[in-house]
Amino acid sequence: MVDPRTELLRYLRQQEQMYGRTLYVDNVERPVRSLPPSQPEPEVVLAENLPQTTPAMEVASSMGHEDVTSLEQFNTKICGCLKCPLGATRTNFVFGSGNANADIMVIGEAPGADEDEQGLPFVGRAGQLLTKILESVELQRDDVYICNILKCRPPNNRKPLASETDQCEPYLWKQIELIKPKFILALGLTAANTLLKNKESMTQLRGRIHDYQGIRTIVTYHPAALLRNPDWKKHTWEDVKFLRKLYQETL
Ligand code: URA
Repeated sequence: MVDPRTELLRYLRQQEQMYGRTLYVDNVERPVRSLPPSQPEPEVVLAENLPQTTPAMEVASSMGHEDVTSLEQFNTKICGCLKCPLGATRTNFVFGSGNANADIMVIGEAPGADEDEQGLPFVGRAGQLLTKILESVELQRDDVYICNILKCRPPNNRKPLASETDQCEPYLWKQIELIKPKFILALGLTAANTLLKNKESMTQLRGRIHDYQGIRTIVTYHPAALLRNPDWKKHTWEDVKFLRKLYQETL
């Protein structure tokens, strides 16, 4: 049997690595350290009230890829893509990684330098923080599928251009069609606004269940933003706990 003290220490170390030396706890009347007033309970939309997958997306995602039945096959088919200028400057095409049958897809913005170098998503500093965020709700990277809106690195990590997103997003649609996740976790505004086709702010987007083609979608801060603003980590902690709770209800 696992010694409860060892387990507690492991948990506290993990929390410290992710959130620093402030401990955020649930179900107490007063937080251990004073926090801003708690946010309203997230609005919960019942799954049966969500629209079903829009046929238009299914058609669009399969266009030209009807023959593709697996992620591996799809990667092989598209990894030489030169549809936009980023194809010419990339070192590696960053298709995505993780569980091909994942219930949760984690979607970021675009590969950075480390990802471009290794051909894998979220392997740099932001990626290491993402791993800890997932672990904080008992998810391993291999439990989920991780990918980005863009598959190639924009120079100097600039934001994706609309023309690049327009070319690349159908690849993501096909990935979603193949994986069929129950949930999407959108990391950052670029991912969220692109997927949800809106211009809402992070404050407007967080704490709600969005519908992305019938898939329940939660939005939180991008881990790179959390590295710059560690104070926001507590909000991401709320968001991933909310996702975990919703996911748990489906098991
Ligand atoms: N930022 C992203 O949005 N994606 C990555 O893969 C790495 C950093």
